[in-house]
Amino acid sequence: MSATRSIRTAALLATGEELVRGAIVDTNSAWIARHLRRLGIELVEVRVVGDQQPVIAAAVRELAARADLLLIGGGLGPTPDDRTRDALADAAAVPLRAHDEARAQLAAYFARFGRTPSPSNERQLLLPAGADAVPNPRGSAPGIALELAGAKVFALPGVPGELRAMFEQSVLPWLGERLAEPPFREVVLQVVGLPESVVGERIARWMAADGPPRVSDTVRFGVVTICAADRDDAAGRARLAACVSGMEEALGEHLFAVGERSLAEVLLDELRARRATVAVAESCSGGRIAAALTAIAGASDVFLEAAVTYSAAAKERALGVPRPLLEQSGVVSEAVARAMAEGIRERAGATWGVATTGIAGPSGGSAAEPVGVVYLAVAGPAGSVAVRKHFPGDRDSVQQFSVIGALDLLRRQLRAR
Ligand code: ATP
Repeated sequence: MSATRSIRTAALLATGEELVRGAIVDTNSAWIARHLRRLGIELVEVRVVGDQQPVIAAAVRELAARADLLLIGGGLGPTPDDRTRDALADAAAVPLRAHDEARAQLAAYFARFGRTPSPSNERQLLLPAGADAVPNPRGSAPGIALELAGAKVFALPGVPGELRAMFEQSVLPWLGERLAEPPFREVVLQVVGLPESVVGERIARWMAADGPPRVSDTVRFGVVTICAADRDDAAGRARLAACVSGMEEALGEHLFAVGERSLAEVLLDELRARRATVAVAESCSGGRIAAALTAIAGASDVFLEAAVTYSAAAKERALGVPRPLLEQSGVVSEAVARAMAEGIRERAGATWGVATTGIAGPSGGSAAEPVGVVYLAVAGPAGSVAVRKHFPGDRDSVQQFSVIGALDLLRRQLRAR
């Protein structure tokens, strides 16, 4: 293949018994597919195979014949079940040879950690004759680049962090010089508090038009993520900007982010901008609100504390929820949710208190309060509010919806002030 030929089509090959067995999910291919889409490269096939060398070699031959670019993930490690290098040599009908640059890379990697390579690492120095070593900034196994049946082939390690770093560092720049058309630019808009159907109605003008820009959406635990994409040239950028501002207006206060930021991240920023703090009292969400907030670097100046008060006694002791209230209203009630939010706010000395109490299931529901019913409450300087929600799905789903719902309730209280 000439170095100047443009790349229009690609195929992906994921290798590993654990993928075929279903022990892990092929997230590498999904990640690469998103990148290729942005680059405007058509993905003709994604294939998953086990560790058998002849099967990998046959897949390499077939896919290289069908696409301009073949990206392989996995099977470059030092153990005998790592067969990608052998399969590549087999498919290219060349021998494996020790590669000087691969040796230097491996030595540098081990030196960085003050270790010496073990004999099995010697395997990682072997590359099909004529192939290049692709630097691996994160691990011991160098990648492999070669040309085969008119296609460019990159083989990268399966470890997601290594694969991503090498794709960004070596494959993307190589591809950037060989694109037939300008790549796509994507803008992500995130919405909470509106059903997907209503989001679809509000942005129907752009979604139904079928582009450009192309507009699509996905929904997960109450967050609708809209993706708008257009060519990254002057005309495409202008179309995209007009579409994004139109959708921003149509979505109003339900839009919480333009870009790939989590609701927790956005909320912490909004609290920080107001010099406000938050504390959380969790029952059915089991600490997952605290986990979502503390997953964000720098949360400590805003997030003060959380209490997972699962039993009625804990709600009384740790949050000061009055026993008569617990007995009369029941632990899963609007009144208790509010008292929990007020209790944690006072105990922590926070500007805002947030609370959840509900029935995550699968048991514990009743006709009046079925599984999935959750009360969310927020207490602030001007008093407290609570909402009753009925979330769908299993225990995990109810918990995840509770986290999003509680964070959104606080976000809306901040905006209302
Ligand atoms: P290593 O040097 O670590 O052995 P390798 O190239 O041999 O790298 P594999 O052994 O195939 O890579 O995979 C290493 C780990 O990476 C797997 O155990 C798995 O956790 C993860 N992994 C492999 N392939 C994928 C994939 N397609 N999607 C997500 N994770 C993957």
